[in-house]
Amino acid sequence: MDNEFFLAADALWLDLVNTSRHEGRADRLGDVAAWHRWTRACQLPSGAGSEPLRRVHQVRTALGELARALADGGHVPGGAIDMVNALLARLPGHERLVREAGTWRLRFASRDVSPALEAVARSAAATLAEPDAVVRRCSNPACGRYFVDRTAAGTRHFCSELTCGHGRWADRRRGVLA
Ligand SMILES: [Zn+2]
Repeated sequence: MDNEFFLAADALWLDLVNTSRHEGRADRLGDVAAWHRWTRACQLPSGAGSEPLRRVHQVRTALGELARALADGGHVPGGAIDMVNALLARLPGHERLVREAGTWRLRFASRDVSPALEAVARSAAATLAEPDAVVRRCSNPACGRYFVDRTAAGTRHFCSELTCGHGRWADRRRGVLA
């Protein structure tokens, strides 16, 4: 994995949201080439070019509103849910019989390579449908990235201990909490 993108949100859709411009940080998906690089970095099927960049940004904006609502405990925006459902509805596929280890199994098979945005939508749906998945915003106020806290005690406060968990922000936070 290269370092162009922050990909440690523990949820693909939040990795996408985290490419957004934030204070001093530029938009990481400023052009189609960057979108291609992001899908490659996330090991998503190529076919990224089938989505216009404007659409990618629309989806990212809606998911950003969803992430903010979940992190702040606010009202989940219906538009974001509709958009996720619309993307899920595009998933093409069929069931087929396959022979595995001497037995027949019924498998769901995608007709096409699943486009990247549909994988992002599946990720958002999975987070929403997972009761234990807690979406948080990084406690470094200059950062603003989102992530899923999967620690049993709910103790993940930073997107990355390396970039945000150390130094003055962590010190300041400890000072505030002390
Ligand atoms: Zn952070």
